[in-house]
Amino acid sequence: MGTPPVLVTGAAGFIGFHVTQQLLAKGSKVVGLDVLNDYYDPALKRARLDILQRNPDFTFVKLDLADRGAIKALFAEYRFAVVIHLAAQAGVRYSIENPYAYIDSNLEGFINVLEGCRHNGCRHLLYASSSSVYGANTKLPFAVQDNVDHPISLYAATKKANELMAHAYSHLYRIPTTGLRFFTVYGPWGRPDMAMFIFAKAITEGAPIKLFNRGMMRRDFTYVDDVSEAIVRLVDKPPQGNAAWSGDHPDPASSTAPWKIYNIGNNNPEELLHVVSLLEKEFGRPAQKEMLPMQPGDVPATYADVEDLMRDIGFRPSTTIERGVAAFAAWYRAYHKL
Ligand code: NAD
Repeated sequence: MGTPPVLVTGAAGFIGFHVTQQLLAKGSKVVGLDVLNDYYDPALKRARLDILQRNPDFTFVKLDLADRGAIKALFAEYRFAVVIHLAAQAGVRYSIENPYAYIDSNLEGFINVLEGCRHNGCRHLLYASSSSVYGANTKLPFAVQDNVDHPISLYAATKKANELMAHAYSHLYRIPTTGLRFFTVYGPWGRPDMAMFIFAKAITEGAPIKLFNRGMMRRDFTYVDDVSEAIVRLVDKPPQGNAAWSGDHPDPASSTAPWKIYNIGNNNPEELLHVVSLLEKEFGRPAQKEMLPMQPGDVPATYADVEDLMRDIGFRPSTTIERGVAAFAAWYRAYHKL
C-alpha cells in the first residue's frame, strides 16, 4: 500500500479549501470531509468543492463528525498518517444562541477524530484552535506560554477544551498533536459571517455597517494563503515530547507529551475602521457607518506573538492588509459578478 492520503476535515470550509489546494499543489492525495452545513450559504461551500473535485487526487466524503460509527469506519478504511482537522462550528456570536451545535461538532466531533487517530496509527494531528481562547484580559501580544483559561464565549471554551483533550491523548497514546490558534483569517473565498465579507457586502449594496466598540476594535487580520502555508509547513514538524515515556511504563510526572500550540497570526493588529477605509477605496464607494457599543463575548483587540512559528518553520504570516484586502475585493467582485 502507498502513502495514505491526508485527511482534511472542513475541506469545503474557507481555510480547509485553501489548505487542500496547497496540499494538492504539492502532490499530496487528500480526502476532504465536510457535512456542508448551512451556518452560511452552502452554495459557497459547493463552489469551493467544485474546484477541489477537478483534481483526481481529491476525494470528498460528506459526513458529520459527530457520527461516531461513520467516522470510526472512515479512519479504519484509510488509516490516515496526517490529519488536518479544521471542521467546527465557528463563530463567537452564534454560540450565544446555538450552544448545542458547538457541543456536537466541536466536542463530540473532536473526540471522534482523536479516537480515530488513536486506533489507526496517526503520526500527526493538526487541529484548529482560535485566538478567542485568550479571553479578554490577556496582555498584548498574546503569547502561547501565557496561561489562558478564562474563555468568554462557548465557542472559545470548546476550542480551549480541544487543546486540553489533545494534550491528554498526546500524553496517553503518544499521538503528536499541533494546535493552531488562528487570528481573524481573511482572503478570497472568505466566510460570509466574518467582518471583511459583511463590510464588503454592505458597501457594495449601500447598506449600513455595524461597527462594534465604535470601530476601535483591533484584529490581527491574517491572510489565508499565509495561514495555509504555515499549516502545510507544520505538517512536517510533529512535536516530539521527551523520552521519559515508554509504552508500558509511562511516567506522568516527568514525561512531556508530543503536544504543541502555535499562534497563526500576522503580529500586526488593524483597527476595523482602517479596514473599512481600504474596502471603500477598493469598491470606490463610501460606507455608511453605524457606531455601536461592544458585544458580549467579543474582545477589544487580538494580537499574535509568532516567535515560535518563526523559530520552528522559518515562516510567519506577513501579507499586508492593503495587499490582502485588494486580493479579497478582486475575488468578491468576480464571485458576485460585480
Ligand atoms: P468554515 O465554517 O468556513 O469551515 C468549517 C467547515 O466545517 C464548514 O464547511 C462546515 O460545513 C464544516 N463542519 C462544521 N461542522 C461539521 C461537522 N459536525 N461535521 C463535518 N463538517 C462540519 O470555517 P473556517 O473559517 O474555514 O474555519 C476553520 C477552522 O478554523 C474552524 O475550526 C474554526 O473554528 C477555526 N478558526 C477560524 C478562524 C477564522 O478567522 N476563519 C479563526 C479562528 C479559528
